Amino acid sequence: MSYLVFARKWRPLTFDDVVGQEHITDTLKKAIEKNRVAHAYIFTGTRGVGKTTSARILARALNCEKGPTTNPCGVCTSCKDVIAGSSFDVLEIDGASNNSVDDIRDLRDNIGYSSMGGKYRIFVIDEVHMLTKNAFNALLKTLEEPPKNVIFIFATTEPQKIPATIHSRCQRYDFKRIGAEQILGRLVHICTMENIAFERSALMLVARKAEGSMRDALSLLDQVYSFCRENLNEKEVRSVLGLVGMEVFEHVVDAIKAKDAAGVLKVVQDVLFQGFDLQEFILGLQEHIRNLLFARIPGALLSRGIELDAEAIEKLTSVAAHFSEGDLLRMSEIVRKAEQDLKWSAYPRFLVELMVLKLVFLDNTVSLESLMRMIGSDGNLTELSDPIPTSVASVADDQKKKI
Ligand SMILES: [Zn+2]
Repeated sequence: MSYLVFARKWRPLTFDDVVGQEHITDTLKKAIEKNRVAHAYIFTGTRGVGKTTSARILARALNCEKGPTTNPCGVCTSCKDVIAGSSFDVLEIDGASNNSVDDIRDLRDNIGYSSMGGKYRIFVIDEVHMLTKNAFNALLKTLEEPPKNVIFIFATTEPQKIPATIHSRCQRYDFKRIGAEQILGRLVHICTMENIAFERSALMLVARKAEGSMRDALSLLDQVYSFCRENLNEKEVRSVLGLVGMEVFEHVVDAIKAKDAAGVLKVVQDVLFQGFDLQEFILGLQEHIRNLLFARIPGALLSRGIELDAEAIEKLTSVAAHFSEGDLLRMSEIVRKAEQDLKWSAYPRFLVELMVLKLVFLDNTVSLESLMRMIGSDGNLTELSDPIPTSVASVADDQKKKI
């Protein structure tokens, strides 16, 4: 039995299946209902967000034997032909390899033929920004006098490269990057339908690694599925995706809390020993510190859409209580700076070691309030029995920084 990758097997067949682009699919559905479909569209957005998929659904919706309909049947000859890529009325052209003026002339000749039974002839040009200037000019002539029942859909990741003259004759739809939560929903659906057991947190890692692209998410799902098979668990998925384990960041933060310089250096050594990328380590640590910071602000984790289970939130909150917001902000800043410097560093390991040591030896500060308590009304320090971590001057400096 041939194996079909998830991205192909689960390519959406109706507008309602397209995730995260409701602002576009709803508008297209309304246009179909009101018989106000434009003759030229630009679909723009990053890779894997549903541009070509939506173009194909629009083509099927218009040419379905039961259509035009917002819900193409998927079983009529027209629908089947478009799905199989064998329809004479729906042509997909790769703009990158058919970018010359001759290619566009061929296309114009082709447009001259009338439809082979479908109601519309639909030309989808992918990567349209790759067309040459002359090719665009040839295309412009067709757009100026669009033949009846011919629809162009131009898909592109770089709309700024399309000439203004073309732009102004098209309706432009901007596809958004898809939110991790929405990608997660689709992954959960697919795994459930495929009878694959999963930990939600494992699928969340896949969703986040995909950075807004559904196609990337499904390719990653293929990758983790071929390794973990029927049971996708967080630990293995982390390892397949090359992500550093959460417990590593917890160790780092424990060592910072305990001011354990040797311990924190050992963590870096282990990370390297296990073959992890230092960049990946820094990014993960940055995210962990951010989560600690948000755990100190009521409701912030939720409102920022950071998906964690109740147990993880409880753990974060209890660890975060050991640090002030100021501490966490400064920790975050140290890690951010290291992340920037890493690209240019000739000694990446040393840079990361310095970073974790800076975190361990983070200046102790006392709050202005406790300082005021320490300084009595006569201006002398009164609570000398309490250890004062830093000099009064540096504390005052620090308070200035905070302000
Ligand atoms: Zn149909």
